[in-house]
Amino acid sequence: MTFVITRGCCNDASCVAVCPVQCIRPRPGDPDFTSTEQLYIDPATCIDCGACVPECPIEAIYSEWDLPEHLAIDGEINTAYFVDRPVVPAAPPSPVRRALPGSQPALRVAIVGSGPSACYAASILSDVKGVSVTMLERTAAPFGLVKSGVAPDHAMTKTVADRFTRILLRPRVATYFNVEIGREVSVEELLDFHHAVLWAGGAPDDRKLGIEGEDLVGVHAARSFMAWCNGVDTTESFDLRGERAIVIGNGNVALDVARLLSRPSPDLAVLDIDEHVRAALTESRVREVVVVGRSGVDHAAFTFGELASLDQMPGATVTATAVELEAPTGNRKRELLLGAIGRDVVGSVIRFRFGLRPLAIEGAGRVEAVVFAKSDGTTERIPASLVLRAIGHRGASVAGLPFDDATGTLPSHAGRVTDPTSAEAIPGLYCSGWIKRGPRGTIGTNKSDAEETVDSILEDLAAGRLRAPAGSPEDFGALLGDRVSTLIDKQAWIRADRAERRSRNSAGVFVTASRPAP
Ligand code: SF4
Repeated sequence: MTFVITRGCCNDASCVAVCPVQCIRPRPGDPDFTSTEQLYIDPATCIDCGACVPECPIEAIYSEWDLPEHLAIDGEINTAYFVDRPVVPAAPPSPVRRALPGSQPALRVAIVGSGPSACYAASILSDVKGVSVTMLERTAAPFGLVKSGVAPDHAMTKTVADRFTRILLRPRVATYFNVEIGREVSVEELLDFHHAVLWAGGAPDDRKLGIEGEDLVGVHAARSFMAWCNGVDTTESFDLRGERAIVIGNGNVALDVARLLSRPSPDLAVLDIDEHVRAALTESRVREVVVVGRSGVDHAAFTFGELASLDQMPGATVTATAVELEAPTGNRKRELLLGAIGRDVVGSVIRFRFGLRPLAIEGAGRVEAVVFAKSDGTTERIPASLVLRAIGHRGASVAGLPFDDATGTLPSHAGRVTDPTSAEAIPGLYCSGWIKRGPRGTIGTNKSDAEETVDSILEDLAAGRLRAPAGSPEDFGALLGDRVSTLIDKQAWIRADRAERRSRNSAGVFVTASRPAP
């Protein structure tokens, strides 16, 4: 018997550290760790001890005996990873014990943001004796894309919020919400009250297509659609009265959108979503979602596991166009899509198209069609009443910090924000997450990223490169109280969070970290 890491894996890699036989790959530091779709367990080496199971923040590890039917192929996926990569015996990673230098009894760090990169950084920092953290979040609630960007039918992934909640509850982590750094409080002012400022604000903008018609009514960012589905942002409305929607982009977000637009009503009835969203999706007349990528299937960014989940979803039929599936043999995504072509259509259709470059979005006032350039030099016009752009995120500049407009990131080295002219580190300024490395990787990828940044902070403290703060935490709290009329502090957030959990529990909605039904 073996254990199996399933397709929801967030690449946090906490499991790696506890495995006594080191049979989980890739490990942090391995060449493919930052690009892997998920982690895998080698069935030939696993000794079935179960030590990895409680370490996984989203409960993605199962005994092969307990694998739900819809995850049955995940065992084969784990096995397949090791066909060309036999496990080379390796020692468990040495536990890292971080400590303040002897001359420094205390370190105060302000973390801007409260998404995964911010929470991992807060966790690592507050594990160090003598370190206190102030988290500053622009909105009224924490966890960023975990709340707004993870699809509501990915309940398992959302359980990582339970782990992040425990980090925010730590006594040495102060948290303030509704604070916009760079507007209400400057970065320089943060440095008056902290030894270091760690920017972990993510990539709040979405990338644009840059084509005519992109601003027509009915064209939206997939990020906005997902925030609406999650009940986080209700400023945009989505017209679901047409029969066809086009999703431009072929990463996992595109598949999330296609899945939610195609879910049959009985599935929607059990989802943890707001009633107005449930009603809108239930009444939707969308019957076909076309998922369009510029590249071929061999370069599609979505993971095989997400594609397999879509293909297994009852009430929808995945299909593709055979001539567009030219890719090297052995590509599992291509094989799955080739196998789907020609099946009887049941329910909605999710149609994958490849090698189409969007040229223009047409419509008189609102979207009517998208025109694409094909690889053979011709064009194709696909009518649709809803277009969702899922081509990635982009970081935004902040007053008081340098910004690399070409990459949408803060210029940095090992987590130290650098001067773009001299490339020298700017004392006291650090970054982590998407604003540091660009919008790549999964939730857990932020862990090793945050470790690197925290190590740079501790190294700089030891080297005397950090200035001691002039003001106290109490003074900082008073400054926020003066500047931010809608300020929410940690205690107020705890009360609000408990009230929300109570109300959702009483409504019979899944809110705990136990495994959801498939
Ligand atoms: Fe390693 Fe034990 Fe998990 Fe197998 S069950 S992957 S041996 S920790």
